[in-house]
Amino acid sequence: MAAVTIADVREAAARIAGHVTRTPLRLSPHLCDISGTTVRLKLETMQDTGAFKIRGATNALLKMSKADRARGVITMSSGNHGRGLAYASKNLGVPCSVYMSELVPQVKVDAIRKLGAEVVIAGPSQDTAEAAVHERVAKDGLVYVHPFDAPDIIAGQGTIGLEILEDMPDVGTVVIPLSGGGLFAGVAMAIKSLKPDVQMIGVTMENGPAMIDSLRAGKPVPVNEVETLADALGGTIGLDNKLTFDMTRRHIDDTVLLNESEIAEAMRTLFHKDHLVSEGGGAVGAGALIAKKLVPDGRPVAIVVSGCNVDMPTFQRIVGTPPSTATGG
Ligand SMILES: *Cc1c(COP(=O)(O)O)cnc(C)c1O
Repeated sequence: MAAVTIADVREAAARIAGHVTRTPLRLSPHLCDISGTTVRLKLETMQDTGAFKIRGATNALLKMSKADRARGVITMSSGNHGRGLAYASKNLGVPCSVYMSELVPQVKVDAIRKLGAEVVIAGPSQDTAEAAVHERVAKDGLVYVHPFDAPDIIAGQGTIGLEILEDMPDVGTVVIPLSGGGLFAGVAMAIKSLKPDVQMIGVTMENGPAMIDSLRAGKPVPVNEVETLADALGGTIGLDNKLTFDMTRRHIDDTVLLNESEIAEAMRTLFHKDHLVSEGGGAVGAGALIAKKLVPDGRPVAIVVSGCNVDMPTFQRIVGTPPSTATGG
């Protein structure tokens, strides 16, 4: 498959402008204090769908031929890609089906249904959901929009990298939540193309770190999917991974793994200190600094806060107690 380039990311940025929010890169005084350098948060939580995946999904749909759009689109998702695709599909009048595993939180399932997409819960894991997608494609000829391993998706997510460089030209480290690697591959390729000395850090959870296990093994490996607060980061990278594994391997400078209590502490800190609602998968970048598992090199840091779609009872249970670092306000 053809490589994704910075030109693709620039084209994606022009294509999705006006369809997708250009999100703020907001200072976090608390994270500046604890890390001794400037730290800004890229608030993808402010997208219309509460997560960045609307970028790639919108880019893919806008690029698709009229004939393909008329066939309708289908995807598997841990929730946020399905919601992004359902949202873009609704706006463009494209039929949309979203296949998800039983691990996807209800708040994500409900939001996708509300956008008018067909929702199918297909078994215990993303693998079972993907198998069901392939069956349905064979039967009904829908167009599969992969959640991460496709050029238009990677280019769409990469637009975040262009925005970070525009808003923070002196950035030295960029921290990114990592699952299938569409977000990491796109942003890292864009940033390294323009500013090769920026450190790119990928963060994920100890409970099923598919990309990090694969990087260590030197090839895509299966992962045991278990429950985690960072549900958006669940699932494998695909044993037949075409793009994101190689792109991630090429551009990643360091990785951080967080346990469940560190993810909860990140959500708590972002809420109590920055007054931000984030989901577990969205908070892990900040969590790497908070847990002191990432020590910046003194240059300014940008952290992608990738989503806020968390069930409210879960969120309230987690943030109901202040963070351990809290000193008030
Ligand atoms: C999908 C998702 C990620 C990870 O994106 P990948 O492209 O799969 O690596 C991170 N955070 C949130 C909130 C997501 O929905």
